[in-house]
Order: sequence, then structure tokens, then C-alpha cells
Amino acid sequence: MASEKVIKALNEARGRELTAILQYMAQHYELEDQGFDKLGDAIKKIAIEEMKHAEMLAERILFLNGVPTSQPDGKAKKGEEIPAMLATNMKLEDDAVKMYNESAKLCVAESDQVSKDIFEKLLKEEEDHWNYFDNVKTHVKELGAAYLATLTG
Ligand code: FE
Ligand code: FE
Repeated sequence: MASEKVIKALNEARGRELTAILQYMAQHYELEDQGFDKLGDAIKKIAIEEMKHAEMLAERILFLNGVPTSQPDGKAKKGEEIPAMLATNMKLEDDAVKMYNESAKLCVAESDQVSKDIFEKLLKEEEDHWNYFDNVKTHVKELGAAYLATLTG
């Protein structure tokens, strides 16, 4: 009954989530180290939401008798300045949104409403993440150092 195509899409999403987790954890350690605790905390919260996404995907994959991947689909970038960091994150989120929209369509074609609902839930949260990073990026661009100062501990 379970569609191999859906299992593959769920696993691709899980690989993407694992990359995001590694990326956001790396950033939050760096930001904390540099004294940008508030931004670091916000990114830590997002990392934890990505962990929940990775878990949700694994549970669905297991239910469909698949094997959840433990392989991230990319590497975390290190040592980026805050504007570059935000651009990296917006690309990760934007790619995820595109990917999950396609996957939701695939689930409809494969008559798997439950998996489709999972992708839609994730989509909504990735859009929120993108929006958060976009807001910070706009403020950094417009206000520069004055805004960066508000992101410290
Ligand atoms: Fe996610
Ligand atoms: Fe996200």
C-alpha cells in the first residue's frame, strides 16, 4: 500500500531537515560565543522545531515500513557574518518550501493524505522561519550596528 515515491520524498525532506538542524546549531553556538545571545536563542528555537520536523518525518516513514535516513543532504557552513548567515538560512528555508510543495502534490497523486498533511504542516513552519530570517535581514540592512546591538544578550 505504501508508495515508494512518498517514502523517498519523506526521506529527502528528512535529509533536508537534518542539514537545517546542523546549520542552525552551528550558528547558535557561534552567535552565543560572539555575544549575540538573542539571535542565537531564536535560532536555537528554530533548530528545535527542525528536530521535531525530522522526527515527524521519521515516524511517518517507519509507519510506511521505510527506513528513515540519518544522513543530512548538505553541510553546515561555519564562520559566516550575520548577513551571510541570514542569506544561507533563507535559501535553506526557501528550498525546503519549494521541495515540500512538490512533495505535497506527489502525495495527492499517490493518494496519501496523511503524508500530504505532514508536508503542509512543515511548509507553514518553514514559511514562518523564512519570514523571521527575512525580517532580521531587513533590519540589519536598514539599521546596521544599532540593530545588531539589540541582538546581544
Ligand atoms: Fe523544517
Ligand atoms: Fe525551517
